[in-house]
Amino acid sequence: MVRRFSEVQFPVLSNAINSVDKKLACHKFREISESLEVDIWDNIRNLKPFFAEVAEKGFGFSSCQFREHWEVKKIIVFNIDNMVRARLSEGEIMAILYHELGHLVNFPNLFVVPTMAVCMEYAIEYSKEKEEAARIENAILMETYADSYATQHGYGPALISTFDKQNQFFKQQMNYYQIRVQKITEKEKLIGGIMPEDAVGW
Ligand SMILES: [Zn+2]
Repeated sequence: MVRRFSEVQFPVLSNAINSVDKKLACHKFREISESLEVDIWDNIRNLKPFFAEVAEKGFGFSSCQFREHWEVKKIIVFNIDNMVRARLSEGEIMAILYHELGHLVNFPNLFVVPTMAVCMEYAIEYSKEKEEAARIENAILMETYADSYATQHGYGPALISTFDKQNQFFKQQMNYYQIRVQKITEKEKLIGGIMPEDAVGW
């Protein structure tokens, strides 16, 4: 993984990344690891990326559509301020890292979202409720697959602990908390693929 932040300034995050780089044998991770960039939110906030809102409120975010210098990049972004405020432990930081990696290399098959355009194309009646329901189903799929990746690498309990801290320390509460905790606790093994660059439905 390519570090875009100071290793001296953020040693715990840096160690977490080092240890994953050294140990993680997952072939999907190996496929993207050399080009995958990792940064902290403070460094890219000014670029106003499309995921700004999520990055602002949580501990981390990942994208395979980060546009910079005329390139489209895969990136994981950590919100250090929020991590410090919630006093995340090393294990919890690892759990967040695995969850974000999970988004990039354990991506589920999504439902087609019946947007107005899709409905017109297939000559079916458009419904705002159905469109919204499909978006929520897709969001749950993406989160539970990313969670499962962390769980499969032994970070399920630490990940749940980050959910609890999010709810404890911040106004923005966890989405889909119950179903996610349930699936992590049951250790449901969900296997997806590398996130496509044109990932739609979210
Ligand atoms: Zn996520």
